[in-house]
Amino acid sequence: MTPPPVLRHQFDAVIVGAGGAGLMAALEASKRCRVAVVSKLYPTRSHTGTAQGGIGAALGNLEPDRWEWHMFDTVKGGDYLCDQDAVEVMCQEAIEVVYELEHMGLPFNRTAEGTIDQRRFGGHTTEFGKAPIRRACYAADRTGHMILQTLYQQCIKQGVVFFDEFRLLDVLIHEGRCSGIVAWCLATGELHLFHAKAVLLATGGFGRMYKVTSNAHTLTGDGCAIVFRRGVPLEDMEFFQFHPTGIYKLGILITEGARGEGGILRNDRGERFMERYAPTLLDLAPRDMVSRAIYREIRAGRGIQGRDYVHLDLTHLEAGLVERKLPDIADFVRTYLGLDPVRELIPVQPTAHYAMGGIPTDAQAQVLDAHQAPVRGLYAAGECACVSVHGANRLGTNSLVDIVVFGRRGGRHIAQYIPQADLPPLPPEATRRAQEELDRLTTPRGGEAIARLRDELQEIMMRHVSVYREEAGLKEALAGIATLRSRYRAVEVQDRSRRFNTELEEALELGYLLDLAWVTTAAALARTESRGAHSREDHPARDDAGWLRHSLAVATGETVGLTYKPVTITRFQPQERKY
Ligand SMILES: Cc1cc2nc3c(=O)[nH]c(=O)nc-3n(C[C@H](O)[C@H](O)[C@H](O)COP(=O)(O)OP(=O)(O)OC[C@H]3O[C@@H](n4cnc5c(N)ncnc54)[C@H](O)[C@@H]3O)c2cc1C
Repeated sequence: MTPPPVLRHQFDAVIVGAGGAGLMAALEASKRCRVAVVSKLYPTRSHTGTAQGGIGAALGNLEPDRWEWHMFDTVKGGDYLCDQDAVEVMCQEAIEVVYELEHMGLPFNRTAEGTIDQRRFGGHTTEFGKAPIRRACYAADRTGHMILQTLYQQCIKQGVVFFDEFRLLDVLIHEGRCSGIVAWCLATGELHLFHAKAVLLATGGFGRMYKVTSNAHTLTGDGCAIVFRRGVPLEDMEFFQFHPTGIYKLGILITEGARGEGGILRNDRGERFMERYAPTLLDLAPRDMVSRAIYREIRAGRGIQGRDYVHLDLTHLEAGLVERKLPDIADFVRTYLGLDPVRELIPVQPTAHYAMGGIPTDAQAQVLDAHQAPVRGLYAAGECACVSVHGANRLGTNSLVDIVVFGRRGGRHIAQYIPQADLPPLPPEATRRAQEELDRLTTPRGGEAIARLRDELQEIMMRHVSVYREEAGLKEALAGIATLRSRYRAVEVQDRSRRFNTELEEALELGYLLDLAWVTTAAALARTESRGAHSREDHPARDDAGWLRHSLAVATGETVGLTYKPVTITRFQPQERKY
C-alpha cells in the first residue's frame, strides 16, 4: 500500500473511546478546554450501551444504606486486592454521579414515591454483610443504553468534536510525556496525527480473547495493548471475570438483575445448589463464587442432562415482572433460544465478561509507569484502566460506577492540567510506527488466516485460562500463545483496499488480543494462590502473606516481566470470605 497522506489536528485533549468512561471524561474536560473524542465505533454503539442490570450507589431509597457498606462489599467482593483509598472515592462519589445523571435526564425506573428505584445485585449487602440490599439503580435492563445516550446528548450539546470510526494505532509517549495519538480513518484509510496536551484512553475491555463471552466483537483491548507496546505496564491481568449466567453456548448475557429480582439457579435435580456454597447470599453471592459453584455442579455430574450448563429459573416470579423489569433479556431468550422465560427454564453457563486488570492509574485517572510515577499528559479510565477498585473480582453494577466516577475525575484533572501545561513537542517521525504496522500487515507473505488464529487463541484461553486454572494447563497455554504470536507475524490481509478495510481492522485487533492473552496467562502462571476470579486448582488457598499484592507486567523481549506492588489497605483488614 502506498502511504496515505497524514492529516494533522491539534486539540487541548483527545479522548480515545466513546463509551461511558470516554464520554464522561469528554463532558467534564470540555467545560474548560477543546476536546476531541476519537472512537472506532459510532459512540452509541460502544459496549456500555449493552450494560443491563444497573449502577450501584448507596442512595438508600428503599432501605437504609451507607457508602461505607458499599465500600466494604466492594473490598470483600474483590477478595481484598482493591486499593481501598480508590474504593472509598468511588463509593462516595457514586451517589453524586447518579444524581448528576438523573439531572441530565437519564430515565431511571422510579419508586411509588418518585425516587430512583433500586434492586438487589450480587455481593451487595446491608450492614457489612448481613443480608442482600437494594442498591442497584436501573432503567429496566437497559441501564447502560440510557447512560450512553444521556452522555452523548450532553457532549453534543457542549460542542465536543467527534471523530467516529477512527481507530487508535499509536500513543505518542516520549521522555515520560504524552503528546498525542496516531489514528486511522476507516472510511478513507488516511492516517491522522492528533497533537494534544492530554490524552485519555477509555477503550474498554478485551473479553474477545475467550471463546464464550458476553463481550461485543469490538472488545479487543486496543488501548491496553498499544500502551503496553510503548512500555507502560499492565496491572493485575491474571484476574478476568466470568459472569455466571451467559446463554448456553452463545455467551450472551442474562443480567444478574434477573437473580436480583428473585431468579434462582438450579441443577439437573432441580436443586437450588447455591445453598451449598453461599448459605446467606445464595444466588446473589459474588460472581467468581457462583461461576465456580456452577462448574462444581457440572463436574459432579449435576449439569443439565449431565452436560456443561445449569438452569436459571424465573418461572416463579410475580406475573408481569419479567416483561416490566427485564424486557430485553426476555427478548434475547425468546430470540436466541426460542424459549419463554416466564414459563420455561433458561440454560446458562459462565461467560467471559470483565477485565479487572488493565492500565494502572491513580484516582485522578493518571496513568502510572513501572515506577509508580504519572506519565505526564496520559490518562486512562473505565474497563481499560486498573485503579484498582475491583481487586480480584468486580461486583455487579460497579463497572458503571467506575466508568462515570473515574471518567469524570479524569476529565476534571485534565481541565485543571491543560491551562498550566505547554504543548509538548511531537516526537520525530511521529507516525512511523503506525505506518510500519499497517505496511507489515498488508505485505504479501502468503501467510496465516486471521480467523483461524483467533479461533485457536480463544480455544486455548477457554480451556486453560478461564474459571479454573492449574500449572500444567497454563504452561501449555503459554506455549500455545507463543506459537500463535510467531504465526501472527506471517498473517496476511488479503484486502488491499484503502476504504473500509475491515479485514485490516481484524488483523490489528488479533495482534492486541494475542499480546493481552500472553500477559494474562503469564501473570496467572506466576500467581500461585487462589484469589477472586483467579482460581488455581493446584493452589486452592488465598495466600495473603505471599500474594496480597498487585502484579505489574511489562514486555521484556519474548517474555513477560512481572513485578509487584503493595495493596493500599485503609479501613478493612483481609478476612475470610464467606457469604
Ligand atoms: C453485556 C454486558 C452487560 C453489562 N452489564 C453491566 C451492568 O449492568 N452494570 C455494570 O456495572 N457493568 C456492566 N457491564 C460492564 C460494563 O458495561 C463495561 O465494563 C463498561 O461499560 C465499559 O465502559 P468503557 O467506557 O470503559 O468502555 P466501552 O463502553 O466498551 O467503550 C469502549 C470505547 O472505546 C472505543 N475504542 C476501542 N478501541 C479503540 C481504538 N483502537 N480506537 C478508537 N476507539 C477505540 C470504542 O469505539 C468504544 O467507544 C456489562 C458488560 C456487558 C458486556
